[in-house]
Amino acid sequence: MPTLDPPNTVFLARVTDAMDSISRLVRPEVRALKAYHVPDSRGYVKLDAMENPYTWPDSMVNEWLEALRDTSPNRYPDPACEELKSALKVANDVPPECELLLGNGSDEIIQILLMALNPGATVMAPEPTFVMYRQIANSLGLNFVGVPLNPSDFSMDLVAFTEAVVEHDPALIFLAYPNNPTANLFDRQAMEAILKTSRGLVVVDEAYAPYASASYMGSLREFPRLLVMRTLSKLGLAGLRLGFLAGTPAWINEFEKLRLPYNINVLTQKSALFALSHQATLDQQVAAILSERTRLMSLLQEIKGLHLFDSSTNFILLRLEKHSAGVVFEQLKSQGVLIKNLDPQGGPLKGCLRVTVGTPEENDRFLEAFRSILG
Ligand code: PMP
Repeated sequence: MPTLDPPNTVFLARVTDAMDSISRLVRPEVRALKAYHVPDSRGYVKLDAMENPYTWPDSMVNEWLEALRDTSPNRYPDPACEELKSALKVANDVPPECELLLGNGSDEIIQILLMALNPGATVMAPEPTFVMYRQIANSLGLNFVGVPLNPSDFSMDLVAFTEAVVEHDPALIFLAYPNNPTANLFDRQAMEAILKTSRGLVVVDEAYAPYASASYMGSLREFPRLLVMRTLSKLGLAGLRLGFLAGTPAWINEFEKLRLPYNINVLTQKSALFALSHQATLDQQVAAILSERTRLMSLLQEIKGLHLFDSSTNFILLRLEKHSAGVVFEQLKSQGVLIKNLDPQGGPLKGCLRVTVGTPEENDRFLEAFRSILG
């Protein structure tokens, strides 16, 4: 048996101590989690994360840097962000009587919402959907109930969902509208039936609002327990990390108590305000992405052995009918194109890949590689 030299013995003792103390001190639900994995995308055509691929024109970049000049990184940010909130309300048609809660990305808002619930409360969402709902609910020891969508087209199984609402009486329901990773908008009738059946909060997550033709923002007046969440990430500001929740002031005030005082940093506040004052540029970029979505969809339709799902987002979900999704994903990677392989999530996502709509050049790189792999 080889003897360990002294530094290794110390290291081993630390590992053993960490393992013992982690199981003693960390909640079991946290120990059971896996950290959210973000792949290293350096050097790839990056079509994996629903980002807007466009940067700003040089003149706008210069103006932005000028706007940042009088920022004071030595001071804490404005904790209330009133100016930014007003600009967000105007840009997003938020009813004037509603308040906003700002988050470091909408991920943080999901966490704040769930932290407010009673211990062990039930959180519900149709599945497959955005994985952070389940992940954060589990991390907080809440009871997450996922109700399967119709597997053929990922539409809402309204009977199953409303039955589950009656059975579990969830404190909060997440409805991603449009949904990620399935890219579709649920039927309006189904949404409204859920809003009417639920005794808890219904959070309509409109992360992909810039690419969709429908919204529940205008319905905030009608449903007192409806909250609408949005993010600037998909619009073209993913690096700033800014999301918001719109709702009745009484509800927003409750969640405000859980928000850390300075969660929106000075650079984000200034930059988001700046970007919102250049809405026309953002709108042009969204229009370019929408026209590329149409082009990409029709070129994908020409490829045999694919099932394409409709998209109301800046990404396309497809299912491979003959090839292994894992193999195709790796081959695309080896040709320098990074997309998202959903096959490991299993169930109705078996064989599925998700590709974000990029610039025309990026989409061509993807298409060329994809065609060559599928033969
Ligand atoms: N909601 C949905 C439906 C999403 O797809 C995402 C990001 N993939 C988010 C919320 C989180 O967005 P962010 O934290 O960047 O605001």
